[in-house]
Amino acid sequence: MKKIGVLTSGGDAPGMNAAIRSVVRKCIYHDIEVYGIYYGYQGLIDGNIEKMEIGSVGDIIQRGGTMLYTARCEDFKTPEGRQKGIDQLEKHGIEGLVVIGGDGSFMGAKKLTEAGYPCIGVPGTIDNDIPMTDFTIGFDTALNTVIDAIDKIRDTATSHERTYVIEVMGRDAGDIALWTGLADGAESILIPEVDDNFEDIIERLKRGHERGKRHSIIIVAEGVGSGFDYGQRIQDATSLETRVTVLGHTQRGGSPTAFDRVLASRLGAQAVDLLIKGKAGRMVGIQNNQLVDHDIIEALNNKHQLDLDMYKLSKELSI
Ligand code: ADP
Repeated sequence: MKKIGVLTSGGDAPGMNAAIRSVVRKCIYHDIEVYGIYYGYQGLIDGNIEKMEIGSVGDIIQRGGTMLYTARCEDFKTPEGRQKGIDQLEKHGIEGLVVIGGDGSFMGAKKLTEAGYPCIGVPGTIDNDIPMTDFTIGFDTALNTVIDAIDKIRDTATSHERTYVIEVMGRDAGDIALWTGLADGAESILIPEVDDNFEDIIERLKRGHERGKRHSIIIVAEGVGSGFDYGQRIQDATSLETRVTVLGHTQRGGSPTAFDRVLASRLGAQAVDLLIKGKAGRMVGIQNNQLVDHDIIEALNNKHQLDLDMYKLSKELSI
């Protein structure tokens, strides 16, 4: 393999830059030419491709977002659209591709692989919703952004004796809600993986209030519904003053944590190693702190598993 391309696709995540840097430097280390493809699959179709040098990825390891930018591209879901991308790869002589993104991006990578272009997927999303990896790039940074916000909300919540409902991201996965809820000692955590008993949440709130608690924090994963709806229902059921904060896209930004930078560096380099070994159609990941790789389709056919023991623990600790 003499020429490798790298792109970021779908939702961005802090740490994607560290992954790009790792792919670029690892290629150059092995005397492989490396090409950055801007704006994901859209840029591939448009030929928005540039040769990267060592210095192209200098001073980005600490930056959020992605220096290659990202896009969603409906055209790439069609065989005609993908053919345009393949034409560009042929034009530049690119023999393999590293795709940094989520499950949608991995499907595109799988289809390109089936069309004869070896691709490796690197899981980059704050949602931590990719099967067969314990962590995705960006998750840890998002957790730290959320707990920083909750700590601040807690200060004002205590001053005013209020119930705070905080809606966090995660798409259909409850990982961000569960981890931040546990990290911040939330009274209740509502996640899509568990059918919550609303009465139980209300009971806990009332019990806490009677015990003299000055504030309560309820974390709602976006996958279970609107934080505003839950806030209204809680206020109606408890008569406690309730405020709602939707943290939104602040969770997608910021300088990546040390954990995400290291994870991204390891996974990006591993993707290049796999391409060098002639592997294709695989995703890289980390399980029990070991680097692993799995067939993309096999991985996506699995369901991402949230740690239900952690959920149980959160309940036990917020009695
Ligand atoms: P994410 O990768 O974060 O899950 P998306 O689901 O939006 O984000 O996917 C990103 C891009 O990947 C899409 O805009 C599209 O270009 C490509 N993609 C998604 N699904 C497929 C598919 N089934 N076949 C080919 N390309 C796909």
